[in-house]
Amino acid sequence: MPEQLASLARLAFDYRWSWYPGGKELFSRIDPERWRLTAENPVRLLQETSAAALARAASDAELLSWARALEETFRADSERPYAGPHDPHRPVAFFCAEYGIHQSLPIYSGGLGGLAGDLLKEASDQALPLVAVGLLYRQGYFRQRLEASGRQQESWIDVDPERLPAALVRQPDGRALTITVPIRGSEVTVQVWRVAVGRIPLFLLDADRPENGHLERWITSRLYVGDPATRLSQYALLGVGGVRALAALGIDPGLVHLNEGHAAFAALELARLDVERGQGLEQALQSARSRTVFTTHTPVAAGNETYPGEEIVKTLKGTIAELGVDPDVILRIGRDQPDKTSQPFGVTQFSLRMSRAANAVSERHGEVAREMWQGLWPGRGIGEVPIGHVTNGVHPASWVGRPMHDLLSRHLGSDWWRTAADAEAWAAVDRISDAELWAVRCEQRAQLVEFVKQRSGMDRLAERQPRAAVEAAVRAFDPDVLTIGFARRNATYKRIGLLIENPERMLALLSGAQRIQLVLAGKAHPSDEEAKRVVERLFAFKDAPGVAERVVYLHEYDLGMAQHLVRGCDVWLNLPRPPFEASGTSGMKVVFNGGLNLSVLDGWWAEAYDGSNGWALPGDVEADSEAQDERDATMLCELLEREVVPAFYERDAQGLPQVWLARVRASLRTLAPQFSTQRMLADYAASVYGD
Ligand SMILES: *Cc1c(COP(=O)(O)O)cnc(C)c1O
Repeated sequence: MPEQLASLARLAFDYRWSWYPGGKELFSRIDPERWRLTAENPVRLLQETSAAALARAASDAELLSWARALEETFRADSERPYAGPHDPHRPVAFFCAEYGIHQSLPIYSGGLGGLAGDLLKEASDQALPLVAVGLLYRQGYFRQRLEASGRQQESWIDVDPERLPAALVRQPDGRALTITVPIRGSEVTVQVWRVAVGRIPLFLLDADRPENGHLERWITSRLYVGDPATRLSQYALLGVGGVRALAALGIDPGLVHLNEGHAAFAALELARLDVERGQGLEQALQSARSRTVFTTHTPVAAGNETYPGEEIVKTLKGTIAELGVDPDVILRIGRDQPDKTSQPFGVTQFSLRMSRAANAVSERHGEVAREMWQGLWPGRGIGEVPIGHVTNGVHPASWVGRPMHDLLSRHLGSDWWRTAADAEAWAAVDRISDAELWAVRCEQRAQLVEFVKQRSGMDRLAERQPRAAVEAAVRAFDPDVLTIGFARRNATYKRIGLLIENPERMLALLSGAQRIQLVLAGKAHPSDEEAKRVVERLFAFKDAPGVAERVVYLHEYDLGMAQHLVRGCDVWLNLPRPPFEASGTSGMKVVFNGGLNLSVLDGWWAEAYDGSNGWALPGDVEADSEAQDERDATMLCELLEREVVPAFYERDAQGLPQVWLARVRASLRTLAPQFSTQRMLADYAASVYGD
């Protein structure tokens, strides 16, 4: 590579480019088409672009000085002293099975990963002493294709780590740093990749080593792999291996944060290390507990995995043997009722009992979680169950569109995203004129419509739709039409099917004089047949005459697509069956872009909605879920017909929708400061990380 491009090569290995203004434009300028083809992966871009493009970049003085300036900004950012209450030499070690940092690093499936990624970026911005641990899945999460019937097809593609913005951690002699982890009777050799999320190092464990047999290599194959024995091996690798990797790196964490139960066994390894140093078992378990905190992320039963005791013992027998303990002592910690040997071992139960503090991810989820796990604290009332809550937030700079970023910079100051939790700063939103705010909204919607036209045309060709349907998709999406989005991991409780409970009314909304257009997307877990069937029913509706032009279902929902959707949609729908939405975060991303939420009062929306800043459907829990679905679907249509559509199309003499814009302002003013990662991390520091 030309020497002049050295600073670009360094920038490519620091994901800060993805949230600093101008970072993305910098790489895109080198070779826009290659940038798109590489899923915006700067390392691949530099490896794969033509020599001519590199030579052009090397003589582009403006580009080079821009790169140097960005590098200088990053360097200054990295040199800031550590902040926060923690000793920089004893950082918080954050453990999670998935990280949604950017679409070029495919080691995430949905909200949990997105949250973890946003948290790391915010920790970098706040200069917190924090390191993160995860797994490098060679095939990541699956790629999604839909057939013309809406049937989901899954495929997995090998990721070559040499083409990721990740560096193999090496020993001084140049060989890979490795550790071993005893899993199911084998010593699994593990190497470690380091990803720079700004100041925060993310260490990813990788079992694809020549020392290992096929079964061991398969452990880090796919995120949430289907086979339970392999899945449990992943958790052992993440927890036990993660703590060992940190020790090998010379990192002694002051606190271990288990972000969801997948990482539970980190606490076990902390105890094992103390036993190795000569402590007694009880004391070692106690000491592990005093350094561990836990966040639970889902009230859905399937998300709180359990395994037969024998499987746990089989998987962890090496670690348990090194602890020198009767396996039943460990199994007891993971059972609902420790004495009932017939009960399975739950990773959430184990995490709750092995941590000194635990939290749910919204106020309502806190209530639900306390009730759900009350049995672990016999004799305590629900109010005394030691699970608090820290409501999720999103990292504004990662989600806001450029036009909105610029608008907020003009009115709140260019560092608005660094002080996003400052409620007073957001009062400035009231001084933005209707014309200016609307212009930005229209620009972002138009960008989304452009994206939808391109993607839906390609998706329909891949589905083998008739040519007319493909052309309809490309022709009909309109930058001036009220655009409603619904995109998320397709789980049954998310109830995307409510959209087609009243097909006639929905049809009227899609084709009236004041019409709407719908953008849908989402992957179902490969083994979730029920969720897949709902999408098939949706396709039957979507492809009906008159509808095909106004409803698109985009394939392959990922972080990149999510950015387009949350930036451009006017209304973001969320229709979970209460109380299963722990928090939800996509709606928060919409807030920062001046979009509005219409959501069931569950998860974050239950504490966010105030009557003026969006729209709500009831959040009560009904025993008869079919009747509830029917009622909610009808209420959704009524809200759209009576309030949402008229507010969008009612224009004043200047052509501006005043009523609509008043709601947008209320949403920004009341919600943006509350639902940022800045507020979230402050809450973690105050109520979970603190003593
Ligand atoms: C933000 C995000 C999510 C989380 O969405 P919710 O349904 O609101 O929890 C999932 N997937 C992707 C790709 C996201 O960007």
